[in-house]
Amino acid sequence: MKRKQIKETINRLCELLEIPVPTLTIDDAFFTDNGLEIDYAFDAEDYSIHIRASAKDESQVDYLTPEQSAMYGLAHEVRHAWQFQREGIDPFAALENLSARERNRTRIEIDANAFATYFQFLLYGIDKINDIPNHKRIDERMGEIMRTETWQGRVEKYFSTLPRKIRFSGKLL
Ligand SMILES: [Zn+2]
Repeated sequence: MKRKQIKETINRLCELLEIPVPTLTIDDAFFTDNGLEIDYAFDAEDYSIHIRASAKDESQVDYLTPEQSAMYGLAHEVRHAWQFQREGIDPFAALENLSARERNRTRIEIDANAFATYFQFLLYGIDKINDIPNHKRIDERMGEIMRTETWQGRVEKYFSTLPRKIRFSGKLL
């Protein structure tokens, strides 16, 4: 994904979830300076989303194109921004000192992965949950999101202008 497309995608996700748009940084410095092995991060301290420069052109899993993989990462991080706006959750503080296994079990990671997986399905019709543990809890959380959150009816409004190949599939609505 090009920077412009990443920016537009974040803007639309934020309009959809009705939250302010975080600032965006695409480079490696944030990750190397903080000793992070991840490629996408939401930093509550300055309300920003960081993306490792190489990550935006690479897919994390074999069943997603690089663009689809970037969309998953962006949806996950925007959801953390939503958690911060709604409940004041700072993911770095909440996940600090936890192992990767423990992190994936937290409520905020389950919620962010459920949102990103559901979004991946809405846009591409791909319902495979990423190679992340706790599928059952992610699945349950997706069900809750589908039943209780009102933004779903507006997805097409914000995502109909994306390139054709990632246009909303409309399968679930
Ligand atoms: Zn996360």
